[in-house]
Amino acid sequence: MTTIQHWINGSPAPGPDTAPVFNPATGKEQARVVLGGAEAVDTAVAAAAKAFETWSESSLSQRTQVMFAFRQLLVEHEEELGRIISAEHGKTVDDARGEITRGREVVEYACGLGDVLKGSFSDQVSRGVDVHNFRQPLGVVAGITPFNFPAMVPLWMHPIAIATGNTFILKPSERDPSAANFVADLYQKAGLPDGVFNVVHGGKDAVDAILTHPRIEAVSFVGSTPIARYVHQQATTHGKRVQALGGAKNHAVVLPDADLEFAANHITAGAYGSAGERCMAVSVAVAVGDAADTLVEVLERKAREVKVGPGDAPGTEMGPLVTKAAQERVENAVGGAATQGATVVVDGRGLKIDGHEDGFFTGPSLLDHVTTDMDTYKEELFGPVLAVVRVDTLDEAIDLINANPYGNGTALFTASGEAARRFQRGVKVGMIGVNVPVPVPMSYYSFGGWKDSLIGDSPIHGPEGIRFYTRPKVVTTRWPQPAQQVKAGFDFPTSN
Ligand code: NAD
Repeated sequence: MTTIQHWINGSPAPGPDTAPVFNPATGKEQARVVLGGAEAVDTAVAAAAKAFETWSESSLSQRTQVMFAFRQLLVEHEEELGRIISAEHGKTVDDARGEITRGREVVEYACGLGDVLKGSFSDQVSRGVDVHNFRQPLGVVAGITPFNFPAMVPLWMHPIAIATGNTFILKPSERDPSAANFVADLYQKAGLPDGVFNVVHGGKDAVDAILTHPRIEAVSFVGSTPIARYVHQQATTHGKRVQALGGAKNHAVVLPDADLEFAANHITAGAYGSAGERCMAVSVAVAVGDAADTLVEVLERKAREVKVGPGDAPGTEMGPLVTKAAQERVENAVGGAATQGATVVVDGRGLKIDGHEDGFFTGPSLLDHVTTDMDTYKEELFGPVLAVVRVDTLDEAIDLINANPYGNGTALFTASGEAARRFQRGVKVGMIGVNVPVPVPMSYYSFGGWKDSLIGDSPIHGPEGIRFYTRPKVVTTRWPQPAQQVKAGFDFPTSN
């Protein structure tokens, strides 16, 4: 059985402890992954700190050339990486290719960094005095990432961190660790010097070592809200910059004037794509007024049409959940919703796939008449369960969304520009779609929610990513001519 090792200073590095990595479609252990702690993190930090000495001095064009080469390798190896992700995560190969594409867009943004990093210059702010500014990298920075996008979420971080001159340590999810090593190999092939990108595998011990390490300047985290809070608190206490993106409960509101077939089609894909294991998955459909009965009818038909199977089988639309525990949690939640009074319109529990009887499969579930006091509404299920909540007006829908502790993504389906404007101005949510169910921003914008979906104040990638991974300097310059030599004033300098 393969053991997936750390990647430190351009080479695989072993570790004493290991954990199993499963194939969710078969339910079988397929590899082991090393579990690092303080020692592995320390070794990686030493390599990254050494590499920073030269990488931070390399030219902008050298760094962007590596990014161009890395981007090309991601294109050439998309199918291979997609299959690696599918085998450990369970999502379909096409869906995995989609996440690679969206992650690659951040590399493309990093390729154009020369423009984004340009400083500004102010001539003659005082007589004979000019001012300019520029930004410099922080040093060694780290990323801690979730299982659900093993390529894309790390790609939100490392291309920007590395292109701005930092060196990087990735601590990926221990459930699907192989994509990180594959990416490390591509970076090496792209000409990235050893030690600039490192991977330390592991769980809490590795995370704690990162959060407290004195030589790590900044930590980017994406995962569940309780861990995001913990990471933010620990890392800021230890003097680091932190980006900490948390969980979600995303509502799609459907007004009676919407094309209900179109809305149901897109909400179905948003709810059950990647088996609902997306931070931008639609988990609640808010049916307004007369839209409800027809919407539920169409949603039921579409949920029953979803093709569930192994992620690498042609035609599969939805794969298994990532672990047996996730499968059990989701199926228990459907049972709990029924007990608390929801109508189970489509019951995905107990699904068996021929030849994959031990896989972690559950089918799409559709629940109607869900109310905000039910556990299924309150908790982030992170599975293929769509809850329909019925309300009378758009304002009621907005109030419902705003009362929810999460604020990652939301969508409105409507034909009314006025309603769309009221909605986007009124909801306390970071990413909003109008007739777009999963409104993931492009790489040149930044990604991040509000409230419990983002702890602290820093969204990720795009302009916010540049700001996060660099520090500004402002320089005030005077080159006096001999004739201008005058006595320096003792008063606080003003710009006369
Ligand atoms: P998770 O919080 O369990 O794990 C995330 C990372 O934290 C992993 O690397 C894991 O090893 C580490 N970790 C887990 N428990 C820890 C602990 N006790 N102490 C220290 N570190 C710990 O999340 P997950 O299950 O891998 O991913 C799913 C979650 O991520 C969902 O809540 C989802 O909404 C969220 N997510 C959010 C976004 C976003 O952009 N807001 C994107 C993707 C996923």
